Amino acid sequence: MMHKAACVIGHPIAHSRSPLIHGYWLQSYGIAGRYEREDVTPEAFPDFLKSLEDQGYSGANVTLPHKEAALELVDEADATARAVGAVNTVWIEQGRLYGSNTDVHGFLANLDDGAPGWDRRLDRAVILGAGGAARALVYGLQQRGAGSIDLVNRSLDRAQKLAADFGGTVRAHGWEQQAELLKSADLIVNATSLGMTGKPPLDIDLSAVPAHATVTDIVYSPLETGLLAAARERGLRVVDGLGMLLHQAVPGFEKWFGHRPAVTSGLRDRIVADLLAQAAS
Ligand code: NDP
Repeated sequence: MMHKAACVIGHPIAHSRSPLIHGYWLQSYGIAGRYEREDVTPEAFPDFLKSLEDQGYSGANVTLPHKEAALELVDEADATARAVGAVNTVWIEQGRLYGSNTDVHGFLANLDDGAPGWDRRLDRAVILGAGGAARALVYGLQQRGAGSIDLVNRSLDRAQKLAADFGGTVRAHGWEQQAELLKSADLIVNATSLGMTGKPPLDIDLSAVPAHATVTDIVYSPLETGLLAAARERGLRVVDGLGMLLHQAVPGFEKWFGHRPAVTSGLRDRIVADLLAQAAS
């Protein structure tokens, strides 16, 4: 029997950690499968995606710059992918290509793991940032019944567009509103690239944040961002961003290889070792 195979498609693709994650699971569960990297240009992407099965793949992860194009190309996108406006995971069933966006699951499952009960009190969530990742977060938080979601972004127009797309309880604010909004936040999420290695720090004052608040960062390199260090210092509950990356990989692996994998400390240690090796190089 031919081994099952999946891949990650992007351009460039060298830095993707998906092969490490899926490779770890294939080995741990003794599954005779493959997970490859595929560097595919935007011009070649439509044909590549449409011929996945002919190339021996059961499915794929899709990353930059193809996530929006994939939404248009799949035969069927689920409600999550349509709401987020991007597909990051595809699989084939009876010759049809299906697409989803598993960042939503990744974000929520990471919080469930790292701060159980975090959504019991979710009257006010504050998201810093309004880019592609923030879109997945807004959808996820709405699914969990967030009372209101305040988007704080450097470019107000981008936050306004995102708020308008989701409507109702999602509101847009300029960066200067941050201090006021943090005073009543139950959940604070950094979805900007600030605080990432090589980027400017996220300058934020957490002194007025309620003591029960949970703080999470989707930046995971470094693992302990300035935001998380400051939140920990204040005694707030913190959840780092690596778990989102690990959990978003779970649904794809299950679809392609037929086994729901677990996000374990062993997997986490493997990826942390890779992050540290990269930081040292
Ligand atoms: P985008 O480029 O779509 O958005 C970037 C966001 O950061 C925008 O809100 C942008 O604001 C803001 N930003 C960038 N530079 C500055 C600055 N100097 N000052 C203020 N705001 C700034 O990126 P994504 O949404 O795709 O990703 C954001 C981060 O999340 C990245 O670091 C990425 O690695 C991480 N990520 C982590 C995941 C995980 O699994 N843990 C999954 C996906 C992403 P503006 O609109 O004003 O430009």
